[in-house]
Formats: sequence, structure tokens, C-alpha cells
Amino acid sequence: MSNEFDIAIIGAGNAGLTLAAQLAAQDNPPSTVVIEPQTVQQRDCSWGLWALDPQAKQLAHSIKGCWRRWQMIDDTSRVVHSSNEYSYLSLSSADYLLDCAAQLRKPVSLIEDSVKALHPQQHETIIETEQDRFSAKTVYDSRPPKIAKDGLRQHFLGWQIYTKQPIKDPDMATLMDFRVDQSKGLHFVYALPFSDHHMLIESTLISAQVQPPAWYRNAIECWLRDNNIEATEVICEEAGVIPMDTLATEPDAATTSEPSERSEPKPLIATIGAASGAVRRSSGYAFQHIQQQISQLAAGIAQGNMAVPTPISSRLTAMDEVFNAVLRSRPDLSVSLYMDMARALNGDQFARFMLGQATVNDWLRVIAAMPKGPFIAQVAKQVTKQVVKQLSQKLPHA
Ligand SMILES: Cc1cc2nc3c(=O)[nH]c(=O)nc-3n(C[C@H](O)[C@H](O)[C@H](O)COP(=O)(O)OP(=O)(O)OC[C@H]3O[C@@H](n4cnc5c(N)ncnc54)[C@H](O)[C@@H]3O)c2cc1C
Repeated sequence: MSNEFDIAIIGAGNAGLTLAAQLAAQDNPPSTVVIEPQTVQQRDCSWGLWALDPQAKQLAHSIKGCWRRWQMIDDTSRVVHSSNEYSYLSLSSADYLLDCAAQLRKPVSLIEDSVKALHPQQHETIIETEQDRFSAKTVYDSRPPKIAKDGLRQHFLGWQIYTKQPIKDPDMATLMDFRVDQSKGLHFVYALPFSDHHMLIESTLISAQVQPPAWYRNAIECWLRDNNIEATEVICEEAGVIPMDTLATEPDAATTSEPSERSEPKPLIATIGAASGAVRRSSGYAFQHIQQQISQLAAGIAQGNMAVPTPISSRLTAMDEVFNAVLRSRPDLSVSLYMDMARALNGDQFARFMLGQATVNDWLRVIAAMPKGPFIAQVAKQVTKQVVKQLSQKLPHA
């Protein structure tokens, strides 16, 4: 196999392998190598998303659970949504990625290796891996993004369990149950019944500080006890950290440039997926934004346009930043912010909102339900920050 490619994709996760599968399906696929150090089984976890029926059909092979009803609970109330249009799905990431891998065909291939460094040359990038060296005209890098040290993040640990007694309402997904310890940040339990004796329970914190695994395990045990659910077996454990803030901007230590003239053309090295900001900052959901970005990118590549589309509009990101700023500045309000938002919307509206496809009417409902003072204060702060930034860019530097 030649080590020279049109495209190199670093990382065979949701973004990388979806892109590779879509390129392989094209009439004249560009020669592409996907470089990934881990097997799909080593990375298996649950991906939750809202989907309309046609997409749910396409994903059928990787679906572990599918619900038309979901709920959010706090100490005093419960909001239940049901939807005729959207399902909340839980996918096995391993099954999804195996499906993508099965679609690869020459000249698109997947190799097991780890990228150590990128060396941009004049017309291509040399990719140095643990075992080899490759060159590619374009590099799409999906390695997980760095999260700023004090950045807001969603961190969680979950168990899949078998239960002794049948689960009370297996048709209901619990997206957020806030009746748990709130001393370490905004904390909720996410519980998905896959059948009447099999469920996933995750303890999820939104804060800057990740806790030791024992903290989340204890929270799960307390929640099971409080809900009279007895586990007969913990089938598996999964954990993760998802950025909910601006990604760290320091230059990637693994990208080194040879000294060069300023005017020299540079090969394209671009981030895709979560690394390109595809994670919704107010919720941590990313799957659908990545799917959309990758479909647009693959269509662009077929037309010779290699540029990576922005995964989430800057307006939505700005709104989410304001929401997160209120979460940070008024932790006393955080549970009620999520509950009030859920209460203001019905199932279809909520699903659209979470997908970043809210209509003007959906937005007006959410805005009307939010406490005005804290949001106005944060909008004023963000605007001032922007003005100061723009002014400092315009002023001559000493
Ligand atoms: C445990 C977990 C659960 C999540 N659950 C949800 C969810 O329920 N719903 C949702 O919408 N989003 C969820 N997310 C967020 C997001 O959808 C996922 O992170 C998604 O997998 C991001 O896709 P990606 O391709 O951008 O990155 P990834 O899927 O993380 O892929 C990046 C790949 O790069 C590889 N890599 C790392 N270093 C190297 C290297 N040196 N060389 C080559 N490859 C390398 C990694 O092994 C990995 O496979 C979750 C995230 C995590 C971590």
C-alpha cells in the first residue's frame, strides 16, 4: 500500500468513521486513510439523540433503546414529554462504528496506529505515527479537544445493570433526575430502561471539577436505593468527559511546522467533530451536529471543496454561552433553569430545541420561561466583552 493519500482522517470515532464511510460511498472516492489506535469495543459507550423516524430506521442496527416519552424530575415536580414526531434513541457506539467500518472499500482504508505528530510541508502534510509515516494533501483531525483548565464540562460515570424486579415504566427515559446530591455542581441521574430488567444509569455532573469514580458510583447506588431498584448484576461501566465551554486554544503540541516563508501555500489541516466545536454547550449533545457537519463536508469534498462546515451556528453557540454563564454565576438557579425550559415546551418542541432546530416560537417560549435579571446581566457582560475585544484589535499595538 502506498503511504500517499489525498485525505488522512485522524481518529475513527463518530466524525472520522462517518466521513470515511460517506467518502467510500462516492463514485470516485479520494484515496483516504483513517488512523485510529483503539478498537471500537475499547471505546464502546452509549450515544443518546433525538431522531425522526427515517433516521431512526437508518440507525436501527445500532439502537439499544428507543423512547417516545421522557421525563425530567426535581424535588417538587416532574415534567413528562411525549412526542409523535421524535424518538429519543440510545445507540451502541461500537455497533454504529462497526457499521461504518463495514462500508469502507478501496481506496478508503482504516489502519490501527496512533498519530504522534503532523509536519505540514508545502503541498502535503507528513503524518508521523507510532509505526509509520504517511503523507496527505488534506488532514481532518478528530482527536478529542483539549478542555480549558477551568472550563465547564459534563462528566459522568454510568452502569448498565440487570434488575431483580421489573422496571416500573420501561417506556419512559429519565433524562435528568435532580433529586441527588447537589454539593459538587449541577448533578443529575440519567436513566434509560432498555427492557423491563435492563437499564443504564449515569450520574452526571456539570462543573469544572471532575470527581473520583467512587463519587459517581456512590451517587448511582443512592439513586437505586431511593428508587427501590435492586441490581442483580452490573454488566458494564462507562465514563466520559464532554466539553461544554470554549475549547482550549493553545497550539497543538503534536503539530510542528518547518520554518517557512509567510506566502507559501499550506496543506489543509482542519479539525472535525467534537474537536471542531460540535458539542452543544448547553447540553453536551453532539451526535446530530457531527452527522450534519460530516454529511455537508462529504458533499463538499465530492465537489472539490475541502473546507469543514461550522457544526453549530455562531448564534446558537452565543445563546448557549449566555445560558452557561448564568449556570456558573447563579448555581442556585441551575436546576430550575432546566426544569423551566422543559416545562415551557412540549415533546416535539423540546426535541427540536435540543437538536438546535428550534423555531422562533420555541425560542420565545423558552425566553419567556427564563428569569430575566440573570440573563440580561450575562448578555450585557458578553456584549461588553465583545466590544472591548473589537476595540483592542483596532487600537495600534505598542
Ligand atoms: C463517553 C461519552 C458519551 C457521550 N455521549 C453522548 C451522547 O449520549 N449524545 C451525544 O450527542 N454526544 C455524546 N457524547 C459527545 C460526542 O457525541 C462524542 O464524544 C462523539 O463520539 C464525538 O465524536 P468525534 O468523532 O468528534 O470524537 P471521538 O468519537 O472521541 O473520536 C476521536 C477518536 O480519535 C482517536 N484518537 C485519539 N488520539 C489519537 C491519536 N493520537 N491518533 C489517532 N487517533 C486518535 C480516539 O481514539 C477516538 O476514537 C459523548 C462523549 C463521550 C466521551
